Amino acid sequence: MYLILFGAPGAGKGTQAKIISNKYGFEHISTGDMLRESVKKGTPLGMKAKEIMSSGQLLPDDIMIGIIREKLSEPQLREGFILDGFPRTVSQAAALEKVLAEMSYDHGVILVFQVDEDELVNRLTKRRACRNCSNIFSNNEIGDLVQCPNCGASYSFYQRPDDEEGVIRKRLKIFRETTLPVVNYYQGSADLHIINGLQPITEVSGQIFEIVDALIERAT
Ligand code: AMP
Repeated sequence: MYLILFGAPGAGKGTQAKIISNKYGFEHISTGDMLRESVKKGTPLGMKAKEIMSSGQLLPDDIMIGIIREKLSEPQLREGFILDGFPRTVSQAAALEKVLAEMSYDHGVILVFQVDEDELVNRLTKRRACRNCSNIFSNNEIGDLVQCPNCGASYSFYQRPDDEEGVIRKRLKIFRETTLPVVNYYQGSADLHIINGLQPITEVSGQIFEIVDALIERAT
């Protein structure tokens, strides 16, 4: 069983993926987090990814497809997984479809998060990440905290280089031009649900729980 969370940067995919993962025990696979981890470790992939990511561009499809192919072969994913940030191009979507079929994964849903662009810019410029655990928080949540509410690290908040306004505009343009066509790729053939990402976090989660519960019932 798997969920594909689809939506622009800042639409709430990561937040919801963590909530779903906690409730159902599905593994949260965030390609952005995987890449940031490689950057932190200074691996060859990380060195290549660093510049591309901070300029708001996408990594090449063949690299990303390779990463996902390897990840999806891990046995614990049979219990369920959540894809957050992949696929981001039509050719990634086509490759994913092949990999899922080859590895006999079934019972998947696609959740399309919709949030208007002004709100996305507003959320992204105001969010901060924890350097230690990578969790994302809004400025409101942080207030004058010095410790990360998730991992307890001190003075670990920072603005991701790709969350600066100029880079955000570029990421949103790439989303519109390159990533959005993925929805057309799935339309008609997949179990696709539109999620209003402007709703409060708990309402979005509630809507997703209903979809996942129905999926679990179908799969058993
Ligand atoms: P995210 O945290 O999902 O917003 O991803 C951060 C950055 O990682 C993106 O702006 C891209 O540079 C890179 N990235 C993550 N996932 C992908 C993907 N599926 N294809 C290409 N680049 C990606």
